Amino acid sequence: MESYLIRTRKELLSREKGTIYKMAKWRFLLISPLPYKVGSGGLAMHILYRELNELEDVSCERYFFQGEEVRSLEGDRLPMEFHCLAFSLSYELDSLNFLRILEMSGIPLLREERKEGHPIVLVGGAYPTINPRPLSKFADALAIGDGEEMIREIAEAIKRGQDRKERLELLSEIQGLFVPSLSNTYQRRWVKNLDLYDGSSQFISPLSGFPSTTFVEISRGCPRGCRFCLIPSFFSPYRERSLGKILEGILRWKGIARKAGLVGAATCDHSALQEIGKALHKEGIPFSVASLRADALSEEFLRYMAEGGEKTITLAPEVASPHLRELINKRIDEETLREALEKAKRVGFKRARLYFMIGLPQEDIEDVLEIAELAERMRKILPLHLSVAPFIPKPQTPLGCFPMESEERLREKIDKLRSALWERGIGVSFQSVREGIIQWWLTQGDERMGDVLLYAYKNRSSFSAWRKGYEKVYG
Ligand code: SF4
Repeated sequence: MESYLIRTRKELLSREKGTIYKMAKWRFLLISPLPYKVGSGGLAMHILYRELNELEDVSCERYFFQGEEVRSLEGDRLPMEFHCLAFSLSYELDSLNFLRILEMSGIPLLREERKEGHPIVLVGGAYPTINPRPLSKFADALAIGDGEEMIREIAEAIKRGQDRKERLELLSEIQGLFVPSLSNTYQRRWVKNLDLYDGSSQFISPLSGFPSTTFVEISRGCPRGCRFCLIPSFFSPYRERSLGKILEGILRWKGIARKAGLVGAATCDHSALQEIGKALHKEGIPFSVASLRADALSEEFLRYMAEGGEKTITLAPEVASPHLRELINKRIDEETLREALEKAKRVGFKRARLYFMIGLPQEDIEDVLEIAELAERMRKILPLHLSVAPFIPKPQTPLGCFPMESEERLREKIDKLRSALWERGIGVSFQSVREGIIQWWLTQGDERMGDVLLYAYKNRSSFSAWRKGYEKVYG
């Protein structure tokens, strides 16, 4: 009888469109630390999967973390049958599943314990780009920056190297790759012209958390300068994909995909946004947008979205007090927010989701309660749900040098805000404070943070294990 795992794999493959089946001499396994439902929405997996499979003598399969035996989706192969395991880590806490997958694969967690015959463990994605140091004990190589710009050279190095040592040497010569066993420095690599790569989905599935949706990245980076945000520091300069390439990527799925998703940190700043909306509307393709900016919304564009079936508008004013708006340099004032919600209502949106941060420097309880007052006024326009996250100071950002607010103080603010919103009947979800603290450590930590990560991993990853590990290592 087939195991549950094989049945699941077979079902995934039978319902997925765009799967590539290829078996070549040089084999890559692309690994997402997230289950298929979530991980299949990450465009980096799609782009690298396509790029690698286009190469001669190279094949690429995928694995999405499912807490059971690690076997490739397409060929049911074990990790040891591949020459390179390429992990894509977007968030700091993905590091735990990265270690888990290595252990489940029978590959030593520490890179210095790996031997000839072990695949090269390559780690890329937003987290290592922001801070590769904590992972440098575990990864053989880390890709800093835009992976598609390096992947062909990486494949070439894997092919050309006669053994593990030589492969690592060749990898260390690639700009953008950090090979900790051979060097202590690295340089970010970035794509100058997004049109050189296909930035759209390679596969879609009704079993994804974004059922049968095709994504296309319309821009990368952000031309703005919010002082808390990582995008300008680590993913600049701002680049746009051309209208022609965007439409080509979406229209390929016409009649197959249910809808399209436009991806980018600053989608509203795309110089051809209006034309994109108009073209998709004309083709009868419903679409959604990853992030909207209240001060850059046209009613016409919102109408195209609403007529395609979008019901919820998501905006991120971040703070409610004018002095905090100045501090973070994201100046979405009340009037601008009101106008954006009114436009959304006029064209048919039914509700709004607003993102806020608490725990900023110079913030007191009154500032936090202002969020509830602002929400009460905005609720008169559209029903609201709030998402509130603790402010995490990120490296190389203007506010990154401030410490994170203490757990006790954040909890006090959360309790007060929760009651103020509850009294007004406004729904809210809070991001975990403890997860925020761990994220802060991982994003700001040096190589020693790898020891903390390992300690937490070996001690069931509870918050007390993280704290204990942190105290042991940093004193
Ligand atoms: S918060 Fe948004 S608008 Fe501000 S810099 Fe970051 S991506 Fe750009």
